[in-house]
Amino acid sequence: MKKSPKKTALSIQPGVGDTPTINPTLQNNLARATKLSVDDYVTGITAGNRAVLSRAITLIESTLTEHQHMAEAVINACLPFSGKSIRVGITGIPGVGKSTFIESFGMHLISAAQKKVAVLAVDPSSQKTKGSIMGDKTRMETLAQQENAFIRPSPSAGSLGGVARKTRETAILCEAAGFDVILIETVGVGQSETAVNSMVDYFMLLLLPGAGDELQGIKRGIMEMADGIVINKADGDNLKRAEIAAADVRRAIQLFPADPRGWQVPVNTCSSLEHNGIDTLWLNIERFYRHMQIKGHFDATRQEQAAWWLRESITEALLQAFHSNKAVAARYAELEADIKAHRLSPFTASRELLSLFLK
Ligand code: GDP
Repeated sequence: MKKSPKKTALSIQPGVGDTPTINPTLQNNLARATKLSVDDYVTGITAGNRAVLSRAITLIESTLTEHQHMAEAVINACLPFSGKSIRVGITGIPGVGKSTFIESFGMHLISAAQKKVAVLAVDPSSQKTKGSIMGDKTRMETLAQQENAFIRPSPSAGSLGGVARKTRETAILCEAAGFDVILIETVGVGQSETAVNSMVDYFMLLLLPGAGDELQGIKRGIMEMADGIVINKADGDNLKRAEIAAADVRRAIQLFPADPRGWQVPVNTCSSLEHNGIDTLWLNIERFYRHMQIKGHFDATRQEQAAWWLRESITEALLQAFHSNKAVAARYAELEADIKAHRLSPFTASRELLSLFLK
């Protein structure tokens, strides 16, 4: 495996060409066609055509209404072909080794477990800064070159909710294209974990050795969300520290309320750089899958997640409509000033604004 001098999965690369698909002729025809119909998209995606899959994801990410309608139709048509994968969320603070881990884990899934792996990301920083925490650099060089891997960076436009929704829809298309493990990476710095947790089956938290201190940076809520906890960088001088950290974490999570699904969160160590302990992590996920299937939690959780997204979508659409309503916009600032000056209660103001909106 080619390693960059700094031993990092974050390195600039001149671009990786698309790997051949099942049917190269179809790929060429569909990829070149200037305009594809919904049927073309669905045919291409379900045939595993990566070029068409990429174009469909670009539609999902587009802000043009016409593209959004098209994307919606494609997603709905792909839904019956989706849902057969296992979706794994991966979080951890910047520098914990997420991209190095995903490269190592992804390669294991492809070679040892014979899986097709899609790697997606929810990067909450991407809309705030021109660059982003996860970076505009090409990462996971080796994985990116595999025929059975598909890597797509985080959508960049819109709110966290918008970015997360687009990633979830992208996952549906990847599943319809035959990818059977979907890895969704996010940065462990805030709210994006909740959004990612609501679209994955298994949520994995990566920690650093020396967790005594590191744990302070991880919100307890995120620890409680995890279905599996991994101490990364368990190699060299860190090996002993990693074992101690794992024991600390095991003790810490015992104090959490018991999982109502009867799942005991495994705490393991691994080295993404040296590819140690990676196989155990996949075995954990398989064990989790069997446990959830037997207990009937697997489908129930996915159904609950779908219902969550329905509620989220309605809330977001209503808020957007509310704030773009002209009558509301004309009166909003005035009422807000009254509230701040304690001349009016927020409740009365909201009633007036809502009645303007509902008129
Ligand atoms: P991310 O910000 O969480 O995506 O972290 P990266 O994957 O970019 O890794 C950050 C740094 O940690 C890089 O210098 C990696 O080489 C290093 N790193 C990642 N995994 C390991 C590991 O298992 N062992 C050691 N020793 N270093 C690692």
